[in-house]
Amino acid sequence: MCCASHPDTHATLRDSLPSAGYTARHHAKGTHRRPYNVRMSGENDVLILGAGVIGLACALQLLRAGARVTVIEQTVPGAGASHGNCGTITAPAMRHRLTAPGAVLRALRSLLHADAPLRISPMPDLARWRWLFGFAQQARPAAFWRAAQARAALLQRARDLLPQMLEREGIDAGWSEQGLLLVFRDARALAAEQDYVEMLQRLQIGARVLSGAEVGAREPALRPGVAGAIEHTGDAMLRPERLIAGLAARVQALGGVIESGARIEGFDTGDARIAAVRTTRGSFSATQVLLALGAWSPLLARHLGLRIPVQPGKGYSMTWDAQPDAPRAPLVLKERSVCVTAWEDGFRLGSTMEFSGWSEGLNPVRLAALRRAASEYLRHPPQAPVREQWWGWRPMSRDEVPLIGPSTRWRNLWLATGHGMLGVSMAAATAELIAQLLDGRAPTLDAGLYAPARFGL
Ligand SMILES: Cc1cc2nc3c(=O)[nH]c(=O)nc-3n(C[C@H](O)[C@H](O)[C@H](O)COP(=O)(O)OP(=O)(O)OC[C@H]3O[C@@H](n4cnc5c(N)ncnc54)[C@H](O)[C@@H]3O)c2cc1C
Repeated sequence: MCCASHPDTHATLRDSLPSAGYTARHHAKGTHRRPYNVRMSGENDVLILGAGVIGLACALQLLRAGARVTVIEQTVPGAGASHGNCGTITAPAMRHRLTAPGAVLRALRSLLHADAPLRISPMPDLARWRWLFGFAQQARPAAFWRAAQARAALLQRARDLLPQMLEREGIDAGWSEQGLLLVFRDARALAAEQDYVEMLQRLQIGARVLSGAEVGAREPALRPGVAGAIEHTGDAMLRPERLIAGLAARVQALGGVIESGARIEGFDTGDARIAAVRTTRGSFSATQVLLALGAWSPLLARHLGLRIPVQPGKGYSMTWDAQPDAPRAPLVLKERSVCVTAWEDGFRLGSTMEFSGWSEGLNPVRLAALRRAASEYLRHPPQAPVREQWWGWRPMSRDEVPLIGPSTRWRNLWLATGHGMLGVSMAAATAELIAQLLDGRAPTLDAGLYAPARFGL
C-alpha cells in the first residue's frame, strides 16, 4: 500500500531529502536553482493530484522508478480532458498554431460567429483577458519559434516513448501508425501553409504536401473537391479512453493507489512544504506532491498562492460506433478545424477552441458545426445515433509550453500541467522528465525549457 495517510487522519510528514551523501544538483539548464535530488526508494512517496493522462502516466513512471504512489481524483480517472479527445499522437509542434501570427485577428473576428472554430467569450473577465494578452504576445516570431522548439522536443521524445510504454505495460489502446492528413478544399489556404511545412522541415519533422489526386487515392472516404493535404508522416492515433483505462489498471497492478471520488479542497502547509492535501474524503500526505490537475490547476494552486498561467480551452467531441467507409488515417478538416478519428471500435469528430472560462456543459451550436464539417468533407458522414457527446477543457498555458518541474516556492511541490491541445501526445515524455527529476537523474530533455520557474512559480 502507498504512503498517503488514511482519510480522516493527518500523517506526519517524513522528510524525503537524504541528508548523508546528498549532493545538490541543478538539473534544469534554465532558470531553476533549487537542488532536488529525491532518490526513489520505498522510503519515498508521491501524492499525485489528478488522474488525467498526465497524472496517470507520471504515476506509472514513478512506480517503475521505485516510488510509492497515490493518485487523488475528484471523480474517476479520465474524467477531465483525457477521455473524449481525438487521440491523435502528433509530432508536429504547431498543428493548430493558435499563437501563429494572424491568429489573434482571426480570433477577434470569431467574436461575431457563435460556431467559429476558435471562439473567445466577450464576457468581462480580467484574468482571462490578461492571459489572452500574454498568449497573443507569443505570436511574435522569436517567442513562437522558441515555444515551437520546446514543444517539438517533448513531442518527439514522447512519440518514441509511447509505443514502447504501451508494449512494455501490455496496454491495448488501439495504437495505429497511419500518419495524419491536414485536408484542404481551398487551394489558396493550402498554398498559404508553405511556411508551416518549411518550419516542420526545419524542426526535422516528417511532413509533405499531397495533391488533390493523391489525397483522393489515399482516402476514398473524402468527397471530391479536395485541393490537397499536408501529411504528417510520423503521426499515430489511439483510443484515449482505452489508454486511460490501461494506465489506471497498470498503476494499480504495480501497487499504486487511485483514490477516486476525493475532491481536493485545500492544503495544510508549513516550513515552505505541503504537509497535507485536504479532500472530501479526508487528508492525504506524502513526501512529494505532484500537481497534475489539467485546466483545474490554477483554481487549486490559488490556495498555495500560485498564479498558474493556464486557462481552459474548451473543446467538444461526438462519438459513434465504428463507421463503414471511414477514413483510414486521422484527418483534420482544415478550413473547419475539425478532427476525424476512426478506430477499429469507434468514430469521433472533435474540435473547437473556446475561451469562455470554466464554463461547463455542451453547446448545441458547436456540436452542429462538427456534423456540418463532416458532411462537407466526407462521402459518408455518420448517420447512426451518437454514442456520446462530450466537452473537455484543454489546459492552455500562456506560452503554449507545458509547465513541468519543481515549484520554486514550495519545497515538495512539482507541476505537470498546461499541456494544452497535445496532452496525450506529450504524456510519455512528461512522465519520463518528472521521474528523472524526482529521482535525481540527469533528464533526457532540457528541463529548463519546461520549468515552472519561468513564471516565477
Ligand atoms: C476536443 C479535444 C480534442 C483533443 N485532441 C487531442 C489529440 O488529438 N491529441 C492530444 O495529444 N491531445 C488532445 N487534446 C488535449 C488533451 O485532451 C489534454 O491536453 C489532456 O487530456 C490533458 O490531460 P491532463 O491530465 O493534464 O488533464 P485532465 O485530463 O483534465 O486531468 C485533470 C484531472 O484532475 C481532476 N481534478 C480536477 N480538479 C480536482 C480536484 N479539486 N480534486 C481532485 N481531482 C481534480 C479532474 O477530474 C481530471 O481527471 C484534446 C482536447 C480536447 C478538449
